Amino acid sequence: EAYLARLRRTEPQLKSFLHVSENALKEAAEIDRRIERNEAVGPMAGVLVAVKDNICTADMPSTAGSRALEGYRPPFDATAVRKLRESGAIVIGKTNLDEFGMGSTTEGSAYQVTANPWDLSRVPGGSSGGSAAAVSARQCVVSLGSDTGGSVRQPASFCGVVGLKPTYGCVSRYGLVAYASSLDVIGCFGSSVTDTGILLHAISGHDRFDATSSKRQVPAFTSQFISKDLLESKPLKGLRVGIIRETIDDGVDPDVISSVCGAACHLEELGCIVTEVSLPSFSLGLPAYYILASSESSSNLSRYDGVRYGNQVVADELNSLYGNSRAKGFGSEVKMRILMGTYALSAGYYDAYYKRAQQVRTLIQKSFKEALDKNDILISPAAPSVAYKIGEKKNDPLAMYAGDIMTVNVNLAGLPALVLPCGFVEEESTSLPVGFQMIGAAFDEEKLLKVGHIFE
Ligand code: GLN
Repeated sequence: EAYLARLRRTEPQLKSFLHVSENALKEAAEIDRRIERNEAVGPMAGVLVAVKDNICTADMPSTAGSRALEGYRPPFDATAVRKLRESGAIVIGKTNLDEFGMGSTTEGSAYQVTANPWDLSRVPGGSSGGSAAAVSARQCVVSLGSDTGGSVRQPASFCGVVGLKPTYGCVSRYGLVAYASSLDVIGCFGSSVTDTGILLHAISGHDRFDATSSKRQVPAFTSQFISKDLLESKPLKGLRVGIIRETIDDGVDPDVISSVCGAACHLEELGCIVTEVSLPSFSLGLPAYYILASSESSSNLSRYDGVRYGNQVVADELNSLYGNSRAKGFGSEVKMRILMGTYALSAGYYDAYYKRAQQVRTLIQKSFKEALDKNDILISPAAPSVAYKIGEKKNDPLAMYAGDIMTVNVNLAGLPALVLPCGFVEEESTSLPVGFQMIGAAFDEEKLLKVGHIFE
């Protein structure tokens, strides 16, 4: 009741939710009844989770922020949502996002613009801006987002919360509306590392409905956490931390760099050996990402033909029905991505764009592998700036894309990364949170969370 009241009070300014559950109180009462009857309840019993609206829920619409899916009600829960419900969690609602996850501000939603809880004139980041704002403003306890190129980590940084992008294959994508299938992962937001680790544990694991989900045993991510009483004894002694040189360079807000360097100093105090490491192919990540993500999306979005899902614009001839439904259903950013992707995949240009981008992806994977052979974790800012004003980059897509430089490489390499708040930048007499990113080897979420827990 308290959370719902807070949600109702804050929502008119924030606009983080596209749908709020009508069953939350009933579900909570049912959990109370089970507890009274001494029946078993799951580890997340009664915990309120908000779910990004590109993740399918059977009891609420799932629009992916698009008019193309307006009113669409999936007949099933995504595997991550099913697992959450099995662990006792209550889905409180569906959060706003850039249409199909394409964007970095949440202004690209076909429905509403979400505000940053730290300064309502600023963006919460994106594309999972609704999920980040909802945790930041305590409209829910934890939330799910998706991260194709940074959509969990950058909004976590802008909203001052913890954000985790798991290793590709750690969490099933079944029921996640596909953007770029080789990069998409469902990720977690929490207001603490412990909450985030518990959420990750609830949603991870193999799923026969997603052939790319891993069969590895899921560790109890939080069981290795060290008591904070031991901080004096340098609990991270010998842990090798590499700061990625290319990420603390020109083009990055100097105040962001100094906060991230402050985090590195704190890690040193905790016993880490911090050095600089170079990833020479780092700057190639951005163009490679935008070519690959657009190419995959142009293929994935072909299913929205006005016949199988969502909105249909009736016409007297089939091709016009497809054309009109798409013309009306998709927003301008989505159309631009489909055009870019179709172009990059077309016969005359495939080798020059798509194939080269795949080659760059291999280079990036190799350079991360080398850096992570010599270091336990790598660190960087989560974004080159703090949250900027609503509207500031709306008509300049290239400037918006450039803001993804810190995050896209991690998706190209399929690695896990954890974003934690590490300071504030003062702008126009408001404090805006800064986040730093810790990148680990594949399936090493446990280490990231353990270090993050000691750090926070
Ligand atoms: N901002 C990036 C894009 O627009 C990343 C989005 C995401 O991770 N879903 O593609």
